[in-house]
Amino acid sequence: MLTPSRKVIRGGRVLDGRAHRAERADILIEGDTIIAMGAPGMEAPEDVELVSAERRLMHPGLINAHTHGHGNLGKGMGDRWTLELLLTAGPWISGGRLLEDKYLTTYLGALEMLLKGCTACYDLTAEFPLPTVEGLDACAQAYRDAGMRAVVAPMVAQYSFFEAIPGLLDVFPDGLRKDVERFRLGPGDAALAAMRQWLHQFPADRGFVAPALAPTIPHHCTDDFMRGCAQLARDFGVGLHSHVQESKVQVIAGLKTYGKTQTAHLQDLGLLGANFTVAHGVWLSHDDMAILAEHGASVAHNPGSNMRLGNGLADIRGMLARGLNVGIGTDGANCSDNLNMYESMRLASMVSKVQGPDTDEWLTTEEVYEAATVGSAKALGFEGRLGCLAPGYQADIVFLDLDHVNWMPLNDPTNQVVHTEDGTAMIRRTRSSTLRTGRQSTLSWSRGGWWSRTGGRSGSTSSACPPRWKRRASGCRPPLHQPRSCAKSSLSS
Ligand SMILES: [Zn+2]
Repeated sequence: MLTPSRKVIRGGRVLDGRAHRAERADILIEGDTIIAMGAPGMEAPEDVELVSAERRLMHPGLINAHTHGHGNLGKGMGDRWTLELLLTAGPWISGGRLLEDKYLTTYLGALEMLLKGCTACYDLTAEFPLPTVEGLDACAQAYRDAGMRAVVAPMVAQYSFFEAIPGLLDVFPDGLRKDVERFRLGPGDAALAAMRQWLHQFPADRGFVAPALAPTIPHHCTDDFMRGCAQLARDFGVGLHSHVQESKVQVIAGLKTYGKTQTAHLQDLGLLGANFTVAHGVWLSHDDMAILAEHGASVAHNPGSNMRLGNGLADIRGMLARGLNVGIGTDGANCSDNLNMYESMRLASMVSKVQGPDTDEWLTTEEVYEAATVGSAKALGFEGRLGCLAPGYQADIVFLDLDHVNWMPLNDPTNQVVHTEDGTAMIRRTRSSTLRTGRQSTLSWSRGGWWSRTGGRSGSTSSACPPRWKRRASGCRPPLHQPRSCAKSSLSS
């Protein structure tokens, strides 16, 4: 049996977000796990590899609690869109996808996150008209190939946006009604069957990429479908993630459909639990927050998306005050145009500070940093393994250059990582790899920072074909081709 590789990182400063300090410390790593930390010069076995971190600030990889892999080809495609206009545009932003496109869009997002200090994410990925095992495998494999941890959740529903808004189809002229009928989703039973099959054959090792389920928006799903998702989640021990009370339209549609808030309805359906993550929750009432906290659920806060789509400013102070776990996300690049978790932290701090004059109610930078690391880790189901640099945690470490202008001078590391850093001070490895797509195009990248790699099935960044794809001299080819005309979605957000 091979001995796991061991490294000792010496000379760097480790960010302690709560204490607003960054003391020098050495870190001993075995395989992908931190096994010891200590004062500079800490004893280490003689045969370990030495990694110098002189003039580096180290923090755990940021964790994106909410994004959409299918949205990464849609950055910059819109402006002055509400959530509802975005959902209307969904079919042309994210539609017409071949299997190779599904892989490529996910891979591209993974690279962007890695290059901007983020090493794990919760990806709600959509396929039309139904999730497929091949599509979901391609998405999961893209993360393995990029070297990024992820929770991959098929984003599913039974009703298209047009069917889900009470009374909307009734006011459409006949021609338009016929047009939007093309966006009807596949039957719920078929979606549940596809997800069951995918979960059944998902690799047992879920330390790097794990599965979950995402009934997209409660009123886009029947109650039976939501219960079916919850049952699947119980059967396979996976997480649930849904957009809840994101926009005012959603709140009103929920009240009209259920006669109560979406949160109260989800509780009645038995969906809430420690494995449940609410995306956004901009319009949660204090009662909703208390219900979610009571069930040990999480909220993924996406301030950039909430502002870009005009949804409003989430009351994160109200959530934290009720003991609700909060993570931070970017949302999809199709509605926030980038996947920069440093920017998301900065925005989370800023949107808290414009909500009132009482500075005691404003989020502190340590609360924001905690949410983007420990809080997001809990939302992903990686609590106790990610989000901290401490013995027993995964060695997903980001190195920042203290000689970069962002850190001149170094005054307060917590304030600066939240308010100043934008990803440009990240130390980037020089190693590069190449992705060949089925269309002969080439994408080159340099991976940023340094972090552990437990390795998925592929492990190597230079062999980027999903396992089911056939390798050909010209690159990767997916095993099946969907006609472009049918691969449309109205699910994306
Ligand atoms: Zn979303």
